[in-house]
This record gives sequence, structure tokens and C-alpha cells, in this order.
Amino acid sequence: MDSLYTDPDAEACVARYPDLPRDLALRVYTTRLLGSDPRLVLHGGGNTSVKLTLPDLLGVAAEVICVKGSGWDMGTIEPAGLPAVRLDALRKLRERNAVADEDMVKVQRAHLLDPTSPNPSVETLLHAFLPHRFVDHTHSTAVLALVDQPDGEQIAREVYGDAMGVVPFIMPGFALACAAARVYEAKPDVEGLILHKHGIFTFGDDARQSYERMIAMVTRAEERLARGRKVLPAAALPAAVAPLAEVAPIVRGAVALKNAKQEGAWHRLVLDFRTGEAIRTFVDGAELSRYSQAGVVTPDHNIRTKNKPLVVPAPDACGIAAFASAARSAGKRFRDEYRDYFARNNARCGGVKTMLDPAPRVVLVPGLGLFGLGRTKKDARVAADLAEAAVATILDAEAIGRFDALPEADLFDMEYWSLEQAKLGTAKEPPLAGQIAVVTGGAGAIGFATARAFAAAGAEVAILDKDEIAAREAAQRIGGTALAITCDVTDARTVRIAFDRVVEHFGGVDIAISNAGAAWQGRIGEVDEAVLRESFELNFYGHQRVAQNAVRIMQAQKTGGCLLFNASKQAVNPGVNFGPYGLPKAATLLLVRQYALDYGPDGIRSNAVNADRIRSGLLTDEMIAARSRARGVSEKDYMSGNLLGREVTADDVAQAFLAQALALKTTADVTTVDGGNIAAALR
Ligand SMILES: [Zn+2]
Repeated sequence: MDSLYTDPDAEACVARYPDLPRDLALRVYTTRLLGSDPRLVLHGGGNTSVKLTLPDLLGVAAEVICVKGSGWDMGTIEPAGLPAVRLDALRKLRERNAVADEDMVKVQRAHLLDPTSPNPSVETLLHAFLPHRFVDHTHSTAVLALVDQPDGEQIAREVYGDAMGVVPFIMPGFALACAAARVYEAKPDVEGLILHKHGIFTFGDDARQSYERMIAMVTRAEERLARGRKVLPAAALPAAVAPLAEVAPIVRGAVALKNAKQEGAWHRLVLDFRTGEAIRTFVDGAELSRYSQAGVVTPDHNIRTKNKPLVVPAPDACGIAAFASAARSAGKRFRDEYRDYFARNNARCGGVKTMLDPAPRVVLVPGLGLFGLGRTKKDARVAADLAEAAVATILDAEAIGRFDALPEADLFDMEYWSLEQAKLGTAKEPPLAGQIAVVTGGAGAIGFATARAFAAAGAEVAILDKDEIAAREAAQRIGGTALAITCDVTDARTVRIAFDRVVEHFGGVDIAISNAGAAWQGRIGEVDEAVLRESFELNFYGHQRVAQNAVRIMQAQKTGGCLLFNASKQAVNPGVNFGPYGLPKAATLLLVRQYALDYGPDGIRSNAVNADRIRSGLLTDEMIAARSRARGVSEKDYMSGNLLGREVTADDVAQAFLAQALALKTTADVTTVDGGNIAAALR
């Protein structure tokens, strides 16, 4: 591993923050260097500090430690992510015999220079009890591969000799900080500390020295690992493995939990798939069930990955039904074991803890790769990143010996430690969290408004539109994890490909909003049959293709689902010369009910929104101007020509779709969103 420190970059960082003390700017610089290498730091893991003098809010100079605050990632840290805490207060704690975690957090918060700062890291005391100006801490995969061994402490001593102190495993907090300080004080010329089964600290007088010691010490670990020769034996795999698009919904369904509080509701997860040479070596290994189940590589991971991944059998392309049933049994076994693990350890802790959901956060699929899982795509990516780091660590550990993790009790204490759980936040989840919604015609007025409303309600959304650029722009406008896919619903092949892409990306489909449509006109007795067929192709068969693909995926998940169709006033109240549009829409209205009837027993609901007179690609501003002129009314009166006298918007339609998606006991429903029109009222 090479040092990335350069003087010009360091000076550029100092210049970027002219109001900051030089050392604090350099602290930002090297923190980012460490944080941008996934071999060292991932997702909020690791922390750094610098000790210096800063003026407090009254302008009085105070000796402080600026230490990474919770909620900040090292790779993108800003000065605000390094809150300043008064050092004398922290050092005073050292005189105590014990300090409870809650008291430690209180003391840290009470002595912040700026009370609006984020909480200082849970490892702040360790930084504070060391005398060095700069302290750096990472969970380097190479160092973990050395210490995650039955004789890890011994290996660390052999590799580092007198250069590094070795600290036995203790949970982060006051006790670990004291133990680390004692190891340092016994050998004050060490350049850092190896924390058994946890990570590495280095320190120095300046930013560069502390950072480059980290790089040098990690390099020593890498060199030791490079001497590892053991090759993992591979397991026998089926001749043909089923494709990701077929496997993902089965896995997603196998890990979903029935919501005990609400009939028909599921606690679903979003998937993030990874594969590659290292992952395949890992998941295809003959001893996968041993090394994958030993525990996490560093206890910092288990709030996001749980202690163990779920392992499913290799999905044989010729026996997908058998795979599905084996995957579901494996999912159930995982949950049962997790409940037992919780009960065992909670009893040891006095029964005061509340169990987290028992679903896995990483799934290993021999012959294919791995999935990270989360309630959002973002969380799924975090779990997948940590799983990839674990794969790298365990492969290295197995090459030099045997991967070995902490005992279950230590892992439980970390997973259920209030200070770790605080990292996950306590924000209330939005109503569609964990669900995946597909919207066709997603770049149009109603499609976009609907995609935006579903994303705001917590769903992951895929925008399907035949206009590639418009789809991409719509996804960008929604932001976050919205996915854009080009799809022409009149072409069965592209609909299948689009749904495969959604499934490969998010893991499945829970809600399909079949919205794409266009209006054709013509007097029905004279209209060319080709026009009628063209309209049926889009306004009926398009809906059928979307629904068919969605149902196929929902059936693989076995967690129900929701089909939503954009019907039209024309379906119940035909307009003069609108036969070519109204007829397929009338057939679609029956399609809605047919799906409700045929798939109700599977928990798949089917509803439609019947909207009228919405500004959109089907009713453009020019059309509105022409029609209101023809009727001799103002545009405003034309648009609000309904019982309520209110113009109906695409957002109103989106809210109706959302209400249907959330109404778990409503199916075969058609909701009218037209401001009131008795002639078009359903009877
Ligand atoms: Zn740590």
C-alpha cells in the first residue's frame, strides 16, 4: 500500500480552509486519504483526531481534541465532522476506575466547544488518553486478516515486533481506552497499536507521520499475507447456474418477514448484488459453511451485516423450484437461529434488550455471488460493501491459517450496544420502506408525479419510459437511488428485459404502476383497423405485458404485491370519436378486475385510477387552448369544469395511486380522480 500524501495536495487543503488552524486542515486532508481507501475504512468505520488549542465560544483559548464525529464518513469529512472536545475533562476521566457508556457520552457532549456539534466518536477516550498530537484508526482488512486468527495476537507480535503495541479485545469505550493507554505507556516508543480482532491505531507528531505510519504498518501486514499459500478448495457446482434475474426475487422472498401487526403487510428488504473473482472464490469454496459462519471480521460491522450471512444452495438452472424451496427453508432456519441467539444472550444481559428484525443482511449464493440487503438501496449497498471487505479479509486469513472471530457474547454485546445502535438512527420509516415500484411512462406527467410520490413514501423506484433521455432526466430529478430504464411496452421483449434489469438492480418488484398510454381518435365506423390495433397494442396489451411480468416476479417472491393501472374516463364514459382510445381502456378496466380475481389468493392486489382532464402529454397546453376556444370558455374554466370546480393535476392522480398502494385490503377498485363528473361516475 502506497502513501498518497503529497505536499501540493496538503497545501491545497490548507488553502481551502484559510480560517482553520493548519493542523486541523491537515487533519481533514489525511482523514480523507484514509477514508477513500476501502481496504482501510468503510462507511463510518475508523476515526482520527488532532489535539490543538482553539478559542471557545467566548474567545478563551482551550486545549481540545478534534475527533471524528458520528454520522461523518472519513472519505468526505469536513472540519464540522471533527468536533472539538475539551481535553482536560476527558483526561480527568482516566482517574476513575470505571465509567459507564452513558456517562462517557454525557461527559463528551458536555465538554464540546460547540454544543451543536455531532456526538464525538465512541473511541474518543482512546484518542484522548494517548499523548500524540495526531492519532489515526482504521479497520484495515490486511491487519484484520492477521488478527482474526486463533493465534492472532501472537502473529501480530511476530509481524510488528517492538514497532507496535498489541491490545487484547475489549469493547470500545472507557475500558478499552485505559487498556490501550497502558499498552502504550509500557512501551512509549511504539508507533501505534494493534487491537486484537478490531483494527489498528497509529500516531505521530504531525499529520503526515501518523498517516504514513498507518500505510507502513498496513503494508507490513500485506507483506505477511502475501506469503500465504493455502488455496481454498472449491465445491462442486451444478453444470448450469440460474441467472441473477431468476434468483434475486426468490432470495428476496425467502428473507422477507410477515408483519405480525398488520395483516397482508410484509417487512421487505432491497438487494444489492456483487460478484467478481474474489467473491466467487469465497462463495464457491467447499468450506463456505465453516468460514462464512465464524462471525464478523471486526465488531463494528455487525450492526449492518449481522454476525453471519445467510448461505443458500447453488441455484441449479434445471431445478429452480427445488432451489426456491431450499432458499425459503434456509431463510426460516436463519431467523430461528437468530431468535435463539438473541434469547440466549439477552438472558445473560438481564433480559433488557429489544430484538432487531431477524432477517439476514448478507446472502451468499454459490455459483453466483453475494447480496447486501437493507431497508433501502443505500443500506443494501453498505451491507454489500462490508460483505466485500469481509470476503477480502477472510480469504487472506484463510490463506495464512484459519479465520477466527470473536465469541458470540462479544458480538452480541457489540450488536446490541446502545452506542452502536445509535448509529442506525431512530427516524420513523416511511410507509413504503423496503418496497420496489416500477412506473411505466415514468417520464410523462402522471408517471413522473407518481414515481416522485412513491419515492417520497420510501419506495425504491424504477422509471420505465420509451424515451431514454427523458427517463434519465426524470430519475435525476427524483434523485437518490431512482433507476431509469428504456422500455417500450408495445414490445414484449423489451418489457421482459426492463423487468429483468429492475430485479437485477433492486432484487424484485412489489408495485407495478402501468401508466404508459396514448390517445388515438377516429369515428369508430370508419376508423382504419390498423389505428384500432395500434391503440390496443399500447392501451391494452401494454398493460397486460407489464402486469404479466410483475406477477411473475411477485409469484417468485411469494410476498403479494400491487398492480396499479392508469385507466381513463373513456373506459366508462366514451367521448365522441374517442373509440380507438376508449375501447382498449375499457378492456384494461376488465383486465384490472381479472388480475384481482385470479391473483387475490396470492395476496396480489389490482386497482386502477380513473383520471380525467390532466395537463400531460395526452392533453397538452395547445389542446387545452383549442378545446376551451371551441367551447367558448376560459382555459381555467375548461380545466376546472367539474363538480368541485377544481383543476385536477398529475400530483392528485399520484396521490390516488399511493392511497391504493397503501390500502392493503383494497383490490379490484377503480378510484376516480376527476373533480366530479356524474356522467363518468362508476356504478
Ligand atoms: Zn474501531
